[in-house]
Amino acid sequence: MALTGKGQAATSVTMQPSPGRHTYQCESGRTRAVDRAAHCFAALPTRFTFTVDVESHPGGSCAAAPTRRLLDLLDESGSHGTFFVLDDVLRADPVLVREIARRGHEVASHGHAHRHLAAEGPAAFRTGMTAARARLADCLGVAPIGYRAPYFSLTPAAAWAPAILTELGFAYSSSVLPARSLLAGWPGAPARPFRWPDGLVEVPVPLGRIGPLALPFLGGMYLRWLPPWRLRALARDWATTGQDGALWSYCHPYDLDPDARLVHRPDAGWLGSLMLWLNRGSMLPRLEGLLRGRRSVPFVATLDEMAATAQLWQPGGGGTSPQKGR
Ligand SMILES: [Zn+2]
Repeated sequence: MALTGKGQAATSVTMQPSPGRHTYQCESGRTRAVDRAAHCFAALPTRFTFTVDVESHPGGSCAAAPTRRLLDLLDESGSHGTFFVLDDVLRADPVLVREIARRGHEVASHGHAHRHLAAEGPAAFRTGMTAARARLADCLGVAPIGYRAPYFSLTPAAAWAPAILTELGFAYSSSVLPARSLLAGWPGAPARPFRWPDGLVEVPVPLGRIGPLALPFLGGMYLRWLPPWRLRALARDWATTGQDGALWSYCHPYDLDPDARLVHRPDAGWLGSLMLWLNRGSMLPRLEGLLRGRRSVPFVATLDEMAATAQLWQPGGGGTSPQKGR
């Protein structure tokens, strides 16, 4: 394995060329970090879905190199994941997108623009997504059936989106954070896969709770920032109370990019921008620990299974809501 084999340690070095700031000084330090992460996630089921939101980040390098590092990581673990590709990345690097598919992963859509859905509105969304889906279909020879909203921004203010996604030919969405949260959220939405009235299957974000906070603990800056003892507690909690939910992780290429400059992101504020920038060296060992002894299968491979048990949910009441947001 590239991450553990001495012969491929240089790969890690080329990915993390800034000594000291974000990197592990030696192989044994990195190995300990992977072991610690694997211990954190020991309570979780052995099957899950490893997802990636393939987008660039201001101040960072392009998405290609860290995306290929994630592809290598999945190869090493014999797993396949779902890659939600932003239209910008597809237009800049169609070769990368084809490589993701060629290496056995599902390619889905992360949208035509990285904006909150509510700020966009239904007309612009329909137009943009029609073009983005067609471009992915042209690139791959097959149209994507999965969609993830930027920022998990499928919220009550964007309740029009599922119907448009269905109309465009999508079969599932992975866009709802079923709680009130620091990110966009939909408090009261089911925590396990459900159906929107138009038939689209929704696969909500797995959440862990710390007091009043609901955190998508298996992804992004939460996965980078939470201390190991907290991750372990959240994993245990999910395993005991969330077994009927779909377990999935998420990350971005920039989560692995320690050389990015700190850039103010107006959508995240200064504190959010700082948190998105720091602690990137922790991500790869944690993802490797998550994959240890665990197999990732893409959403497309489990969609029939999820659809068979997904119950209709009517936002605003009237639907069967088997499990409210955790
Ligand atoms: Zn995104």
